[in-house]
Amino acid sequence: MAENRIGRIVIVGGGTAGWMSAAMLSRALGPTVAISLVESEAIGTVGVGEASIPQLRNFNAFIGLDEDAFLRATEGTIKLGIEFVDWLAPGHRYMHAFGPVGRPLGVTPFHHYWLDARRRGTASDDFWAWSANALAARAERFGRAASAAGAEPLTWAFHFDAALYARHLRAHAEARGVRRVEGRIVGVDQDGETGFLRAVTLEGERRVEGELFIDCSGFRGLLIEEALKSGYEDWRKWLPMDSAWAVPSRDPAPPVPYTRACARDAGWQWRIPLQHRTGNGHVFSSAWTDKDAAARTLMDNLEGEALAEPRLLTFVTGRRKKSWNRNVVALGLASGFMEPLESTSIHLVQSGLARLLALFPDQGFDPLLAAEFNRQTEQEYACIRDFLVLHYKATQREDTPFWASRKAMEVPESLAERMALFASSGRVFSRDEDLFKESSWVQVLLGQGLSPAAPHPMTAVVADAQVDGWLDDLARIAERTAASLPGHAAFLAGVKAEPEPRLAG
Ligand SMILES: Cc1cc2nc3c(=O)[nH]c(=O)nc-3n(C[C@H](O)[C@H](O)[C@H](O)COP(=O)(O)OP(=O)(O)OC[C@H]3O[C@@H](n4cnc5c(N)ncnc54)[C@H](O)[C@@H]3O)c2cc1C
Repeated sequence: MAENRIGRIVIVGGGTAGWMSAAMLSRALGPTVAISLVESEAIGTVGVGEASIPQLRNFNAFIGLDEDAFLRATEGTIKLGIEFVDWLAPGHRYMHAFGPVGRPLGVTPFHHYWLDARRRGTASDDFWAWSANALAARAERFGRAASAAGAEPLTWAFHFDAALYARHLRAHAEARGVRRVEGRIVGVDQDGETGFLRAVTLEGERRVEGELFIDCSGFRGLLIEEALKSGYEDWRKWLPMDSAWAVPSRDPAPPVPYTRACARDAGWQWRIPLQHRTGNGHVFSSAWTDKDAAARTLMDNLEGEALAEPRLLTFVTGRRKKSWNRNVVALGLASGFMEPLESTSIHLVQSGLARLLALFPDQGFDPLLAAEFNRQTEQEYACIRDFLVLHYKATQREDTPFWASRKAMEVPESLAERMALFASSGRVFSRDEDLFKESSWVQVLLGQGLSPAAPHPMTAVVADAQVDGWLDDLARIAERTAASLPGHAAFLAGVKAEPEPRLAG
């Protein structure tokens, strides 16, 4: 058995996906497996990807990356959620905050009691008054522990400089023995019968051999598509964004602890505050606006001075039909991309790596392992796709052709069912491989204006006065939690002032 194990892994690509893979696989597999990473400075990386979701904290902890050291090394800031501006209608805003909103009472989720109390006129319309995360974000506060009685910790992720993160991951991976090979890959050596890869070939007639190949080569999918023709499922009919202008700016104000996503006439604009600059981008559909107009929209809506010329990126939303094909596993942009609205792309690298470790093969490459990997990946992508499409479909906007088309579009059946169930009865359930749980779905469904016809009948089991008192208590706890935290800027200043810890082993 032992002689059949994978002894050499080749990672193709040194963007965020490549270096995350190198750091995680070297940590998980130890020195028993030789890991090489091939990258080409001449080709470079996509150079964006600055907002994350809370699961990234688990990744960093797994590879032994201290959180404060990470914030210092990446000019990072805290992200408590995403504020959506003008999505439902011009002038409207809501937040998709991380973490819970309120607490369930028995088996019945919180939002049903809120819906019931709101219907009776005893609860505020502001659902986010029960989210400590949302209140802290609005007040620009953050701390890891709140001192208020009954408080629970916030749920947080980060904004960070992607290039600096990749550099930091590289240091971790190289310290664990990962070998970096600089050079442009110009071909692959495949087994004539099975099509399995034996090596990648580089300029200068160099070869890097392996048994397992991780394709992190970006949109082009050097191994998974160009060599193995795995196919791509195109989701532009639901997610028609295919371009983005990105530009950094100097923010006159201290960084806020949340991402802002402002709807625009044919897309939306992100604003991601880092310590040393703000990342901005206008994601748009070239079917509904031209690129020069899109660039103007971005530059006209910056809050501070631009620090560079805007850069155009183009992509096709969708996913690789097989992320694991023969002895190649694609991660990152090589396995698909669904636009950056909910910052899910880097997470998909992390979950793909966890899945690969759970299904790690030997040199026999049991096809059942690859089939299960692909099944889970497909479901995870489809659940995220539905969540993203919801933001566009559930709009009241018809003021531009783009928004009118989004409102009128036919959505995947899986999403149509979820929206219908929520609209009629307020019920939401997580499905297999659903990255976004009930709290996220409820916030976006309500934020995008869907109002259930009736709350859960179980709310009638509890007396109205008891529900109202309980809602008041929970709102006070959320409010006190947020108020008891230091300012985000003060938190970051404290992090910067700490001495650097040693690299964890
Ligand atoms: C507009 C936009 C905004 C985004 N925002 C977010 C966000 O906020 N949050 C988030 O989670 N994700 C975001 N993403 C996605 C995120 O940027 C990527 O998931 C992440 O950077 C991983 O990219 P990658 O490593 O797969 O690819 P890349 O960064 O493109 O890296 C590809 C690597 O392959 C190498 N390579 C390619 N061809 C060859 C060759 N022939 N020889 C040798 N090496 C080669 C390159 O040199 C490079 O090192 C965004 C993406 C876009 C397009």
